[in-house]
Amino acid sequence: MKIILIGPPGGGKGTQAKLLVEKFNIPQISTGDMLREHVKNETNLGIAAKGYMDSGQLVPDQLILDMMETRFQKSDCKNGYILDGFPRTIPQAEGLDKSLKKIGHQLTNIIVLEIDDNIIVDRMGGRRVHAPSGRIYHIKYNPPINHNKDDVTNEELSIRDDDKEKTVRDRLKVYHELTSPLINYYSNKNIVSTIDGSLKIDEVNNKIINILNNKWLKLE
Ligand code: ADP
Ligand code: ADP
Repeated sequence: MKIILIGPPGGGKGTQAKLLVEKFNIPQISTGDMLREHVKNETNLGIAAKGYMDSGQLVPDQLILDMMETRFQKSDCKNGYILDGFPRTIPQAEGLDKSLKKIGHQLTNIIVLEIDDNIIVDRMGGRRVHAPSGRIYHIKYNPPINHNKDDVTNEELSIRDDDKEKTVRDRLKVYHELTSPLINYYSNKNIVSTIDGSLKIDEVNNKIINILNNKWLKLE
């Protein structure tokens, strides 16, 4: 399974990717999580990326493509992966095509989460994260067991710097301008499925699993 999740910021990509990791035992590759790790460790990439991320803009394509080229070389990518937040522009999709060709991989599914901007702003206001693991919660829709504590480590949860309403609106604008054209880019490959991302977390998850199961049953 070589899956791309496309959707606006706060569309539920990370939440769904984590559920799929548990179910299918393939890695989630989140460029957002990778970049935040670089920022935290103050690597050259992290230093270059921080300003873009804080202002809700995209990190330049070439930096992302270089980071992903390295990531695909890791052995855990052999049996598949869930790409969460990448590609995000047409040049990134073209770069991804080249990288995949080099390693002889073919994408199997593009899952698009469709959701209205107004719902997103509400969701992002309540997003809480456990930064070290990337686990995602919502104060109302997916609360942790203990107030503001991670379910696994019981460490304090945090609010992402870029989840302020103004930055969220900027990120949505970027999504509509630069990322949503990818849906067209992939449409001729016949592997795109669109899901109503405003449904509940488990309903969205069931729909994705049905799509993936159907695909694999057909191939068997
Ligand atoms: P969300 O899932 O809420 O959209 P991400 O964690 O995917 O947020 O991304 C956070 C920020 O990291 C983005 O606003 C952008 O600055 C940067 N980023 C993540 N992935 C990419 C990418 N593929 N290309 C460019 N910038 C990226
Ligand atoms: P993305 O990775 O696309 O930015 P997240 O998975 O981080 O999105 O979800 C954004 C916020 O919305 C999180 O707080 C998450 O718990 C919550 N969330 C995710 N999916 C749903 C859903 N289907 N219904 C309600 N809230 C959701």
